[in-house]
This record gives sequence, C-alpha cells and structure tokens, in this order.
Amino acid sequence: MTLPVARNGDVSFWYSQIGGPPPPRLPLAGDRNVDVCIIGAGFTGLWTAWYLKTQQPDLAVALVERDFAGFGASGRNGGWLTGAFAWSREKYLKATGDRDGVIAMGQALRDTVEEVIGIAGAERIAADIRRTNGLMVACTPAQMERIRATHDTEIAWGAPSGRVELIGGREMRARIDVRDAMGALVTHGVARVQPAKLVRGLAAAVERLGVRIWEGTTVTELGKGRVQTDRGRISAPVIVRATEGFTAGLPGQGRTLLPLNSAIVVTEPVPERVWQQIGWGGFELLSDASHTYSYAQRTADDRIAMGGRGVPYRFGSRTDTRGQTQAATVQKLHAILRRLLPPAADLPLAHAWCGVLGVPRDWCASLGYDRAAGFAWAGGYVGTGVSTSNLAGRTLADLILGRDTDLVRLPWVNRQVREWEAEPLRWLGVHGMYQLYSRADAHEARSGGKRTSVLARIANRLVGR
Ligand SMILES: Cc1cc2nc3c(=O)[nH]c(=O)nc-3n(C[C@H](O)[C@H](O)[C@H](O)COP(=O)(O)OP(=O)(O)OC[C@H]3O[C@@H](n4cnc5c(N)ncnc54)[C@H](O)[C@@H]3O)c2cc1C
Repeated sequence: MTLPVARNGDVSFWYSQIGGPPPPRLPLAGDRNVDVCIIGAGFTGLWTAWYLKTQQPDLAVALVERDFAGFGASGRNGGWLTGAFAWSREKYLKATGDRDGVIAMGQALRDTVEEVIGIAGAERIAADIRRTNGLMVACTPAQMERIRATHDTEIAWGAPSGRVELIGGREMRARIDVRDAMGALVTHGVARVQPAKLVRGLAAAVERLGVRIWEGTTVTELGKGRVQTDRGRISAPVIVRATEGFTAGLPGQGRTLLPLNSAIVVTEPVPERVWQQIGWGGFELLSDASHTYSYAQRTADDRIAMGGRGVPYRFGSRTDTRGQTQAATVQKLHAILRRLLPPAADLPLAHAWCGVLGVPRDWCASLGYDRAAGFAWAGGYVGTGVSTSNLAGRTLADLILGRDTDLVRLPWVNRQVREWEAEPLRWLGVHGMYQLYSRADAHEARSGGKRTSVLARIANRLVGR
C-alpha cells in the first residue's frame, strides 16, 4: 500500500484542500511592548485575542507563533464542533462541591456551538460549517450498555430535553449503514467544520481588530512580564499560555500537559453509488463506542475523514514532524473504516496526518489567571478543543479584563492539577492504557461483546481517567 501523506509542507489535508497555509506573516523583529502577549496562535490564543479586542479595542494584544497560525491541532482536527464536556463532571464536583456550577459549565460548553457559528457568520468566515447530529454507534451489547450509560449521564447532568436520544439499529442504519449497528446515541446541536478554514478565518478576523500575529517566532523563556523569543523580547504585564499539546516544549512545563497523538485519514471523493449504499445524507458526526474509539465526518467535498488514536504518545512528550504519521497508523484507521463501512472498503486514501492534543493528569480541562504573576493559561481539552477553546478564550478575556461574569465562576477556572509522572512512567502508563483498551475491544469482539471488559476499567484506573 502506498502511504498517502498531506502535500509537502501542509500539516493536514484541510490545508491541501485550500491551497496550503496562508502566506507567512512577519516574525517579531527586535524588542516590543504590548498589554497582552499570547503564546500560540491556535483556537485558544485566537479566541482569547478576539474577545479581548472586541471588549477593549484600545488594548495592545499580540500573538507569538512558532510556525504559522493554525499550525497545531486547530488546523488538523476532525472538525467536530460539539460543545462536549471533557472529561469527568464528578471530578469537577469533587474538587469544588459545586454541582450547579458543573451543570452551568455543561450548558456553557453546549452554547459554544452557536457562539462559534454566530461569530463565523459575523466575521464572514466560510468554514464549511453545517449543523448536524452526532451519532455514536454501538455494534455490540457492551457498546449499547455504554451508550445508554452516556445518555443517562448527560440527562443526570442537566442536558436539556432533546439534546441526547437513543435510537435503535434499524434507524441508525437508515441514517448511516454501519455494519452490525445495534443502536446509537444521537447528540443534537453539534456542527461539522473545516478546521483550517475556521482557524485561518479567525486569524484574519483578529488581525482586522488590530491584533498583531508574529509567526516563525519561538518562545524560549518566560518570566514575569517578559517573554523571550528567538527573535527578540516582548514585555507585557499579561502573558497567556495557549500552547495546548505543545506545552511540554516550554521551559518548566514538561509535565503539565501530555501531548496525546491523534491521526486522521481522508478518502478520495466518494462516488454517488457508494453514498447510496452508506447513506450519511445528514452529514452526521460519526463515532463508535469501542474503547479505542474512532471519529469521522463527511466532508463538504464528499470524502470520508476518519480519525483515531494510532500511536498514542511519543516518549519524552515529543511531537510529530509537521503532521507526518506512521504507515501502521494509516493501516489501522483504514481497517476501522473498512470494518464500519464495508462499501467504502476499496476507496483510495488521499491523505493521512496526525497532531497532538493536550491531556492534563486528571483528564479534565482547566484555565486560569494569576493576576499577581500576570500569567494566564488554558488547555487540556482532551479532544474537544474545537468548541472548548472558544469558552476558554471568552473566559480568559473576562478574567484578564477583571469582568465579574458567570463564566469566571465556572468550576474549571483556576483549578490546580497535579503534574504527569516523569519518564519512563509516563510512557508506560499511556501505552499500557491503550494496550489494555485494544485488548478490551478484542476481548469484547471475541466473546460476542456481551459486557464491557474488565480490562477497560483497569486501563481507566491506570492513568486516572
Ligand atoms: C488529529 C486531531 C483531531 C482532533 N479532532 C477534534 C475534533 O474533531 N473536535 C474537537 O473538539 N477537538 C479535536 N481535537 C482537539 C483540538 O483540535 C484541540 O484541542 C484544539 O485545536 C487546541 O487548540 P489550541 O489553540 O489550544 O492549541 P493548538 O491549535 O495546538 O495551538 C498551539 C500553538 O502553539 C504554538 N506553539 C507551541 N510552542 C510554541 C512556542 N514555544 N512558541 C510559540 N508558539 C508555540 C504551536 O505552533 C501551535 O500553533 C483534535 C486534535 C487532533 C490532533
């Protein structure tokens, strides 16, 4: 099999689809003073800048980006805009005792879908946005049990009527003919996006507001009121860390967020005769309820983009080289595609790539602002960052501007999370967890999938998920 790769220099298919990244912006040239310096020009950094500047236009805000705006996960993801909650409401509850706060956070996250769509519309960002449903398909009794539990958890934590619903196998197969589908969890109020278009448009929007983006500029050191880069020094009373999966590369942050790998393959455009067999007329966001989990979207130009874990983590928190992924990962994802959607089995793959998302030690996102230190941060969205980053940016802006809003009281604000273990424990823990997940899936498949394998529970316990 020839290994499909994103076009040279494009970190994902999404960039190849739009003719590559936008022309590079200028790097920082010498020393500068600003009011707020944001490190990292992905969704988190860009949303923070957008909300700061729309609320206080005279603020001098700058973004420092090592590569180009949208180089990271923001330009490589699966394009699921879901407003989903990552990860455990119980952990937020345990930390704060504030049940109403956790419920309010769930609603604030759900609201991000319309917030993002609204701003994209107002800023004229064409990002192939399409409102749709999420479909988490179950193909075994154990998977059915898990989607029922997820459904009940959502209801118990205040999902409004009509947000989630369970459907049977026949209805699922009428929507998307997934082999052996026994049922699905439908999530309403989500959307499909083309991530590179969204992040490119957002970067242009913040520039129109007067924000400066210095690309090709690497932050090498951080101090109070001071950001040292390879191109000069920036003095700023407020510094924001918005580097999510790349955070381990910053000095002193090696164990804050673990860079978890995710990879995606995309097919060539799917012929009409195949769509007639598969269905998928509603462009739903498709995932499966296996432990190793895959996610897919039908693109605006009628391809299937399917993602999954692949190699979960590189020793020492290393990250990929410009999205290049391994042949074994491509084969694994292709096999999932063939298994779930047999009529798509012979479709050639056009592209494959990977990226990193940030995972905190307790798998629960957080953000914060230490006014005395002049330092703010956000991240650890564990695979839901397309929507969560919007809430993060909005909340960081309120915190920095000293606005006393409902957002600054949500339970993920100013949480302290312990660090990841040093290597090799970190590598052993994460690889052990995913090995156990794979074995749990294989065990469930062999045993007819009657109930959830105990191996999956051990895996969750192993790394505190
Ligand atoms: C393959 C994949 C699929 C995903 N699918 C989904 C999905 O469908 N839905 C969803 O909600 N989430 C998904 N995610 C997660 C989501 O994309 C991320 O959580 C989100 O984009 C994070 O945005 P960010 O701005 O915080 O980080 P990033 O977009 O990663 O941006 C961080 C930026 O910091 C820059 N940087 C790093 N170090 C430095 C430095 N020293 N100096 C200057 N700049 C630096 C990087 O170059 C990068 O541009 C996926 C992630 C991946 C990798």
